Amino acid sequence: MNAAKRSTATTEARHSAGHNAGRRVTIVGGGIGGLTAALAFARGGADVTVLEQAAAITEVGAGLQLAPNGAAPLGALGLTNVLHMAGIRAQRVEPTDALTGRTIAQFDLTRLTGQPYRFLHRAELIDILLTAACDAGVTLRTGAKVVGVDAAGAITLAHGAMPQADLTVGADGLHSLMRPALNGEAKAFFTRQVAWRAVIAHDAPPVARIWMAPGRHVVTYPLTRGRLNIVAVREQDDWSPEGWTNTDTPAAFQAAFADLCPDLRALLDKVTDVRLWGLFRHPVAARWHGEACAILGDAAHPTLPFLAQGANLAIEDAYVLATCCDRSADLPAALARYQALRRDRVVRAINGANANAVNYHLAGLRRFASHAALRAVSRVSPGLFLRRMDWLYGHDVTRG
Ligand SMILES: Cc1cc2nc3c(=O)[nH]c(=O)nc-3n(C[C@H](O)[C@H](O)[C@H](O)COP(=O)(O)OP(=O)(O)OC[C@H]3O[C@@H](n4cnc5c(N)ncnc54)[C@H](O)[C@@H]3O)c2cc1C
Repeated sequence: MNAAKRSTATTEARHSAGHNAGRRVTIVGGGIGGLTAALAFARGGADVTVLEQAAAITEVGAGLQLAPNGAAPLGALGLTNVLHMAGIRAQRVEPTDALTGRTIAQFDLTRLTGQPYRFLHRAELIDILLTAACDAGVTLRTGAKVVGVDAAGAITLAHGAMPQADLTVGADGLHSLMRPALNGEAKAFFTRQVAWRAVIAHDAPPVARIWMAPGRHVVTYPLTRGRLNIVAVREQDDWSPEGWTNTDTPAAFQAAFADLCPDLRALLDKVTDVRLWGLFRHPVAARWHGEACAILGDAAHPTLPFLAQGANLAIEDAYVLATCCDRSADLPAALARYQALRRDRVVRAINGANANAVNYHLAGLRRFASHAALRAVSRVSPGLFLRRMDWLYGHDVTRG
């Protein structure tokens, strides 16, 4: 990670003289949501500190689909040019029969309005955000694990208490400490699905392919420098721990998809390093804020990955939170407005991801009917699919 070397400032960047100027903001978590929030608050003149538990800001080796709705806030923060250099512009999404290898439908992602739909490596997005945040004056403290936080936003680090900021933001992901501080403990449940994730060396066209089979699906899309991102999901009763760092053997992974079509198997056979995790459903938090603290991203609303929106929603949250605070001297009112603007949209996206978990895995007659419908829409009215997704991809939080 080389935060100091690259300057990201462009004329797009918004510099406000709003209420964030001079505010002291502490952000717990230096992931995609936390760093976007850090940048957005710093652009408004806030004095921002990010506390990250890891010894260095690193990211898992996996790809990310950055949709127009997630790219819009990043563009408003001045990052369009660097995103353009780091990512691949997506052309199409192609639902594919994983048993035969036949393409079922083609949906043209270049018809979406606004920022392009992009494929990029998570580490590259983190690098871009970190560089921009450091350029904007954000203080980053790595190796700073928060061990306690209360509903007033008071933070305790492993080696003692931390001076209280005007605003504390919990961007501490799936296992957030601030979410239970605001909401009490909530139980997640295992979805009876596990997911493997891998990156292989493979040149592919700029297409997201969703390979669908009964009880399973695989999503593949290219990354820069001749890499292909693979996420493969299977229904099964026993579960793996929730987390991104559990390894599995390539042989066990390949065996789980051994009966699928030769084109897909040829890709999966190239995998030499694979992670496995159990997919859980978590309730969306009821309270996203206190008087002087707020949560965002996975801390507020973890989602299944089947709409590829978790990071996009975290970016939207971060931008909206900073904007609401910038526009109001009354912080509690700004935080309430933030939740009011965000919650219904997030719930809708999460419901969409939950529905895809079912639709991708159909069997028998329902599978046949679903594929026939996709084929028909693709031939007769190819714009219909994307129009139906306009509420998601066409939403631009920077216009609010
Ligand atoms: C397989 C898979 C594929 C995905 N693909 C996509 C996709 O294509 N598009 C998309 O939009 N989303 C995708 N997502 C979802 C997306 O990755 C997450 O929703 C997103 O990373 C959430 O960002 P976040 O900043 O809220 O949390 P995180 O990325 O989890 O960051 C939290 C940060 O907080 C730090 N932290 C945690 N606890 C503490 C503590 N106590 N003290 C200090 N620091 C702490 C962590 O170390 C971490 O750096 C995918 C998810 C999965 C599992």
